[in-house]
Amino acid sequence: MAMIPKKLAIPDVAKSIVTSFDEIAQREGLLPIKVSDFYAAKVEEEMRVLRERELSGAEGPLYRCVLPSMDRFSERVSGEVGDFIGDHVNMPEELRDVLIWKYQDRVLFLPTDRCASNCQYCFRTAYLSDRYGAKPFTLEEKVAKLVEFLREHPVIEEVILSGGDPMVMAPAQLEMVLRALREDAGVKHIRIHSRTLVYSPFVYTPAACEMLAKYRVRLVHHVAHPYEICEVVKEHVARLSRAGVRQYNQFPLLRNVNDHVDVLRELIVALDEVGVRTISIFAPDVVNFSAPFRVSLRRQFALMDELAWSSPAWVHAVRYALDNPHGKVRQQDFVRWEEDVNEKGGRVPFAIFKREGREIRYPDFPDELDIPGKRDVMLWRDYRGR
Ligand code: SF4
Repeated sequence: MAMIPKKLAIPDVAKSIVTSFDEIAQREGLLPIKVSDFYAAKVEEEMRVLRERELSGAEGPLYRCVLPSMDRFSERVSGEVGDFIGDHVNMPEELRDVLIWKYQDRVLFLPTDRCASNCQYCFRTAYLSDRYGAKPFTLEEKVAKLVEFLREHPVIEEVILSGGDPMVMAPAQLEMVLRALREDAGVKHIRIHSRTLVYSPFVYTPAACEMLAKYRVRLVHHVAHPYEICEVVKEHVARLSRAGVRQYNQFPLLRNVNDHVDVLRELIVALDEVGVRTISIFAPDVVNFSAPFRVSLRRQFALMDELAWSSPAWVHAVRYALDNPHGKVRQQDFVRWEEDVNEKGGRVPFAIFKREGREIRYPDFPDELDIPGKRDVMLWRDYRGR
């Protein structure tokens, strides 16, 4: 069921899609709408500013992150699937819903399927929405299975807690997981991926920061837009830093949210100013109903080039990667363009990448559908009426 703070007034033009969203979401394996009070206040401010410019308010980047835009269901593009990166085929049979083992030296552990807010662009939406059936294990059972698996596979050096958002777990539960990883499994590296910094920064209490530091966790935030960084967020980043927690950022390149070099630069600089290093930008996965967020590969490559040419190394020294069932590929792994024709005679573009000697066909987003986000809407605070 949708969880939208009452005070968040949905623009008239968007009311019908917001009202019908949950029914469609349930049918199609998408997450229901969920917006935290903290994030809703930012969306409200954005809507107010955009309305002053006689826009509806539903065009803004923060709005699009958590609420369905008008184009949310209007485009379906060839190649979209529920599980694009192969999470399910990479779950060992006896560890369904526990872990994903895709790279030899690290595993992804899934302690929870809940998040502080639900992102419209979520690439794990089918898994999180129960599309793949019941989740059979308690957290204690998951941890026991994980520890046993790690003991049997000493080649694994890193456990990445993802999900869902691990930072929404109760502190005692999170500590139980971290203690088991360090003390029972003796794992070398622990990483947590989380978007709570922008949705619910209050989870980073002094005690939580100390716990993350104690277990030497690397915390990877998922901040996707510079306006997600406010004074409250900065205070919590500083608290984490004071406790000694190593912080990084990674985020997806999203059409109409951050697909302009000025937005990317502003985001990376703002994070760097508070001591958070952006380590990667990734292409949005080709999951069902991802079209409103996808950017054609030619434009993705051009944006990364532009970022490199127009900024110093401490800004552009980020890894840009495209995930797929066979492992991540990078721009420099690109080999050639190819094209198929679908049953309706439409163009189905692909890019061929090469990884470890193997050719990978990556579905492209058609150039003709790729209408770039407007800089002055995405950076609405900078608007000067031009
Ligand atoms: S926080 Fe991550 S896992 Fe949760 S809805 Fe957003 S993208 Fe998906």
